Amino acid sequence: MIIGLFGEDSPLTLVLQNDLKEKGFGSCRSPQPLSREQSQHLVFRKRQVPPDWESLGQSGMVLVWVGEPVEPAVSFDLVLTPGQSDGEALEKLTRLVRRKLTGPPRPSWDEYFMRIAQVASTRSNCIKRKVGAVVVKDRRIVSTGYNGTPRGTRNCNEGGCPRCSALAASGTRLDECLCSHAEENAITQAAYHGTSVKGGCLYSTFSPCLMCAKMIINSGIVEVVFNMGYPLNDATFWLFEEAGIKIREYRID
Ligand SMILES: [Zn+2]
Ligand SMILES: [Zn+2]
Repeated sequence: MIIGLFGEDSPLTLVLQNDLKEKGFGSCRSPQPLSREQSQHLVFRKRQVPPDWESLGQSGMVLVWVGEPVEPAVSFDLVLTPGQSDGEALEKLTRLVRRKLTGPPRPSWDEYFMRIAQVASTRSNCIKRKVGAVVVKDRRIVSTGYNGTPRGTRNCNEGGCPRCSALAASGTRLDECLCSHAEENAITQAAYHGTSVKGGCLYSTFSPCLMCAKMIINSGIVEVVFNMGYPLNDATFWLFEEAGIKIREYRID
């Protein structure tokens, strides 16, 4: 984390700089080009707004101005006027540093697992839809899957699936498709390793098809969370309902 302390030389600047030194920040008076490695604990002090101001703003540096407010090219994270007490200024700076170190809010469990399912989908070798799934038990991933041709056979994107290669219309010639679905692969991968998915929750980037729904029910999975609805799956929903499987949508970008 880099803190750029800019503005007039004032007793307050000195107080702030000493405080940051005590917190483990090093200091450097003139802004040299920075590498990420050397940027861990660095405080800059400079009287004027430097000419490469915009690039400093983009580098992720926390920008603090000490002095009367000015209107620079980019906005400061904090403006500390010399009029305020040292204690007040220090408190504001400490709060800012803490907030920056804490970073953005952590994702929820739903978002966390759905994003992982999304990453799994990027491994798909199917030339049609790319789908990813993860099976979670006690908030731990026990299996992942993505769609594509079976293990040891030619990948779909290398001509391995005649139905996908023929660009068959959605919902047609499904019985000719050689691509396994992401949910199917997540369940069979667990079987491959001898891991039970009983009582688990399956996150999938698409809502499951009827074939996968049957497999999900019989594997003992009790909940399904999907990011986007598959267009042809009314039967899936009523089957899940009848089997007592919870299904819900959780949308992420
Ligand atoms: Zn395919
Ligand atoms: Zn399926």
